[in-house]
Amino acid sequence: MKTKRIILSLATALLMLPALLSAAQQGQGKGRAAATFLSVLGRPKYVVMLALGLIALILLLTKKMRNGIKIPLLLLSTFLFGIAANLPIKVFKSFSMHPSPVCAATKSILYGFGMPLVVTLAVIVVLTLVGPKLFCGWVCPVGAVQELAAMLADGLKIKRIKWNFTFSQIVRTGLFLAFAFVSGKGIYHTVVEGQKTALSIYDPINAFHGFEFGAQPSFWAGLLHYLPLLLTIVLAFKVYRPFCHLVCPVGLLTHWLEQIALFRVTLRKSDCTDCGVCTAETPCAAVPEILKDAKLRPDCFACNACVGACKSCRAFSFGIKRTS
Ligand code: SF4
Ligand code: SF4
Ligand code: SF4
Repeated sequence: MKTKRIILSLATALLMLPALLSAAQQGQGKGRAAATFLSVLGRPKYVVMLALGLIALILLLTKKMRNGIKIPLLLLSTFLFGIAANLPIKVFKSFSMHPSPVCAATKSILYGFGMPLVVTLAVIVVLTLVGPKLFCGWVCPVGAVQELAAMLADGLKIKRIKWNFTFSQIVRTGLFLAFAFVSGKGIYHTVVEGQKTALSIYDPINAFHGFEFGAQPSFWAGLLHYLPLLLTIVLAFKVYRPFCHLVCPVGLLTHWLEQIALFRVTLRKSDCTDCGVCTAETPCAAVPEILKDAKLRPDCFACNACVGACKSCRAFSFGIKRTS
């Protein structure tokens, strides 16, 4: 099982990379000096993203991911990739979440794979395959604010509703299929200088836009600009990561990739007393399925709550093995 997962993770990464790179070459403007994959990957933003993901992984594997570290890490991701680029400080300009994960996954389909889109996707894919969902769990600013809202809700003892995984999966898959049809076919479009240009149906609901703090032409335009992020944060007090589960196409992509991630939550069944504490105390729909050793797990954002919940038996941990 262990060897199979390592081979599957490596093979997926190796298969996706050439496909992304060749698509990127096609997507590069002819007149522009083409940025190479490595030159874009070497930008501070992507280096810090990879470093943050790997630091989170080390903390998870060494059982050092406690709330005292988790909260500062999530605040750091929110600041670096959400807020920093809005400040008038030169060094932070390159940290802008442009292209956002939503744009990387969708605009590349509509307009071609520019190198920043490819590199963003590659960083997401690699951190998910090392996993589980290290990008979504510890790097993405929209993910981080939802995780912080969920932790605050727990602190305030707000009773939260758990996702029915089938429902959330149908909604985000349906949205992606609607995008492929409506945007892909150019049904939703704009006309610029007589030229028809497809628009993404994700644009009006993209929570990442809320991290662009520029002046808006009117109050209503401003409201629409910030509404997806505001709604996401408010809903995150009641349901776990609503934007990831219902809207984000990267949530959908990483859900499939995390099934073959090298590292994941593992359960030592021999230590489990079936007390049910982990199911009650964790926010996700994954824990009950892990307890059942289900083949297909709902999204795990590597939040570490299950490991923390099983204090007495220590049956959960992060590792390579599945269950034992
Ligand atoms: S699913 Fe989308 S919004 Fe959620 S953490 Fe991942 S990239 Fe961010
Ligand atoms: S909290 Fe630990 S012992 Fe209790 S059901 Fe969960 S894994 Fe088993
Ligand atoms: S509680 Fe455990 S299984 Fe659920 S998202 Fe967090 S780490 Fe993953």
